[in-house]
Amino acid sequence: MSETIFHKIIRREIPADVVFEDDHLIAFRDIAPQAPVHVLFVPKTDIATLNDLKEDQASIVGRLAHAAAEYAKREGFAEDGYRIVMNCNGNGGQTVFQIHLHLLAGAQLGRFGT
Ligand code: C5P
Repeated sequence: MSETIFHKIIRREIPADVVFEDDHLIAFRDIAPQAPVHVLFVPKTDIATLNDLKEDQASIVGRLAHAAAEYAKREGFAEDGYRIVMNCNGNGGQTVFQIHLHLLAGAQLGRFGT
């Protein structure tokens, strides 16, 4: 498992605008937001890509999605709606190789694809 910038954020070695943290994950605002709300949910377990997720780790992704939904409800935009995205490897556009879930909201989002 190679070290990424997200591991440094988890260890609070570099700053991030953290909006939520518990024993399992950390959530912080994306440094280059693609929507009015753009928050990243990152597990504290080292997993480089979704391809590396073991069956007994499936609940880790569930926790990310649950934390994102709870954040949306707390912040008051759950009813308006939002999108969650996980990018995997090159064609998926993954640039940081520690799995993370993007939460995008705050505007009508365009359709996805190429
Ligand atoms: O899915 P992907 O790997 O492309 O997403 C990585 C995300 O991490 C990007 O949206 C980028 O803006 C964000 N990032 C960040 N803070 C950093 C480095 C990257 O929010 N220090």
